[in-house]
Amino acid sequence: MNNRKRAAVVKELPAKPIAPLVSGILDALGENPEREGLLRTPERVEKALHFLTSGYTQDIGKVVNGAVFNVKYDEMVIVKDIEFFSMCEHHMLPFYGKVHIAYLARNKVIGLSKLPRLVDIFARRLQIQERMTQQIAECIQEMLDPLGVGVIAEAQHFCMMMRGVEKQHSGTVTSAMLGAFRESKETRDEFLSLVRK
Ligand SMILES: [Zn+2]
Repeated sequence: MNNRKRAAVVKELPAKPIAPLVSGILDALGENPEREGLLRTPERVEKALHFLTSGYTQDIGKVVNGAVFNVKYDEMVIVKDIEFFSMCEHHMLPFYGKVHIAYLARNKVIGLSKLPRLVDIFARRLQIQERMTQQIAECIQEMLDPLGVGVIAEAQHFCMMMRGVEKQHSGTVTSAMLGAFRESKETRDEFLSLVRK
């Protein structure tokens, strides 16, 4: 199965409770999981983790739900500054930032409000920024069959900021360019200049 197909598959989650495992972590950290402030922490962490990884169980078809329209339009559609929050798969710490999406329509467009929802599907997983960027681009390519797709993600990674690996304000930028955005410098430059505005 290629990456694109895998991204679209809805995962069935095993019904395995996370809370007792969190309790074990607290214990291993020398904490007392029984003390008042921590009593409900394992359940809260379980709930939070399920939410932060809920992209695994979301059905892209359902989220998009009829918001793909056939229109005579073959220009660039661009949505900037879509906020996202994800979690790095190496440290399970947050990374967050903005995604900019553009596609060169081929008589098919998607309701603009759906693009942030799509971003959430791929952000709410254990991720690396490069793969998230690529998955968003491939998903749009597959859904709309446009002449091309460009996705840029700008992010700050807690695993770098908190652990002092990098200066606090250094960001990481990734991009995925498909079709016309890969082949035509003019298209790519148009996208980049619109993003920078
Ligand atoms: Zn990390």
